[in-house]
Amino acid sequence: MSKHIIHWIGGKPVATAGAAPRRGEIFDPATGQVAGHVDFAGTAEVDQAVAAAASAFTDWRTASVARRTTALFAFRELLNARRDELAAIIVSEHGKVHSDALGEIARGLEVVEYACGIPQLIKGGFTEQASTGIDVYSIRQPLGPVAIISPFNFPAMVPMWFFAIAIAAGNTVVVKPSEKDPSAVNFLAELWKEAGLPDGVFNVVHGDKVAVDRLLEHPDVKSVSFVGSTPIARYVYETGTRYGKRVQALGGAKNHMLVLPDADLDLAADAAVNAGFGAAGERCMAVSVLVAVDPIGDELVDKIKQRIATLKVGPGCNGDSEMGPLVTGQHRDKVTSYVESGIADGAELAVDGRKHPVTAEDANGTPTADGFWLGPTLFDHVKPGMSVYNDEIFGPILSVVRVASYEEGVALINANPYGNGTALFTNDGGAARRFQFEVEVGMVGINVPIPVPVAYYSFGGWKASLFGDAHAYGPDGVHFFTRGKAVTQRWLDPSHGGINLGFPTNS
Ligand code: NAD
Repeated sequence: MSKHIIHWIGGKPVATAGAAPRRGEIFDPATGQVAGHVDFAGTAEVDQAVAAAASAFTDWRTASVARRTTALFAFRELLNARRDELAAIIVSEHGKVHSDALGEIARGLEVVEYACGIPQLIKGGFTEQASTGIDVYSIRQPLGPVAIISPFNFPAMVPMWFFAIAIAAGNTVVVKPSEKDPSAVNFLAELWKEAGLPDGVFNVVHGDKVAVDRLLEHPDVKSVSFVGSTPIARYVYETGTRYGKRVQALGGAKNHMLVLPDADLDLAADAAVNAGFGAAGERCMAVSVLVAVDPIGDELVDKIKQRIATLKVGPGCNGDSEMGPLVTGQHRDKVTSYVESGIADGAELAVDGRKHPVTAEDANGTPTADGFWLGPTLFDHVKPGMSVYNDEIFGPILSVVRVASYEEGVALINANPYGNGTALFTNDGGAARRFQFEVEVGMVGINVPIPVPVAYYSFGGWKASLFGDAHAYGPDGVHFFTRGKAVTQRWLDPSHGGINLGFPTNS
């Protein structure tokens, strides 16, 4: 049966008003069939959601920290119990395999659990007797209604990176999920209601640029947390800040994995395949460039080719699939066009993913011939300047660049406009220490191919991978969703009397 996804405002579902509302198609990427539609919000629906959030803020910011954490703990328990259901929703619209969807939920839950510690995280400082008879203390207060705009590739985890801490800190939220896989956030909205969160604290509007633009300009929206491609991240940052908002906008990536000759090449090949082709390469922390330091290139490429040959590509709902389809037909066609442009630019096509076998049916017996498939693809002898190197492809295409030395490898990484994640594979502690010091990238893995920081650190790239100065979740997240206030206090006695027009100093 075809589904119809609508907004969630003030604790209940709301459709876009009007006789012929704008809508988008939702696909099942494994079969290529249209599975339903999602309403697109106009200005009226965004205004309605922000009004609900603004109205709920009055009570939510006065709710005790204990009351707020009670809702968070309840949400955590519900989500933990129903993670399989949410994973199935993600698989059906995104296409990633079920175990991978469970992984994204687990990493989102980590942030919810971190936010359950808000009583500790939000504590201020206190200085007794800062000046004679005067105490000074600091507190952190919520901002108000905040907007979260998320990409298609982590439909549950990325919203959770932000809303858990925002809500715990006393803000109210309007989420604008990706229109490609909108159902996961509606499922989370229902869990919040069941967890006892007051209506209006968590709202969802679906849609496209129209909804995003209204959130960016709306005077009652106090901050914007965005994750998506670099051009849109830059636009969101520039527009949101022009309207006086606090903005953190996380953008695209081109993550390099540098392998030194002393590394264990079997383990490095495993890591490159896992990080290059997991989620069909649709991860902002995917490894898309493998940098092999001479003389290991031939051996490493051979090992990767052997591993690619065994990968099972098929529907995410089939238990034995290791890699699923791409999210839409349009995206698959764009990614596939890079196979041709890589060849035209002179790179060596070592594995052609267009020829990789795909499981013929999904778990329900539906044929997959029209699914959005591209198998794992490997290019060797790639060089900067080729489009497969320069562009963020966001698909299962791994490029191998050969370099003569560690120095050449680091220079290549540092010259790249993106700086989201990177990894070094080596057994040389000195080289690892030097890499961590020299590399101009926000998240660094030493023998770890996908170095997504745990919830109590913060997630964020450098350069064109992040606009703004606050990374996501962890201490940066708490800071972003609160504003500081410093209070200077004394209790008057007669010694404080008298006229003195001088600037107050400490004594
Ligand atoms: P996208 O930029 O197309 O969309 C992201 C969000 O912006 C969506 O909600 C979308 O509806 C909205 N949007 C799209 N076009 C817009 C426009 N013209 N004006 C205003 N809003 C617009 O990104 P995507 O394809 O959904 O996601 C993939 C991208 O996200 C990749 O570039 C990936 O690297 C990036 N990403 C980055 C991180 C990170 O942490 N840095 C994490 C996940 C994904």
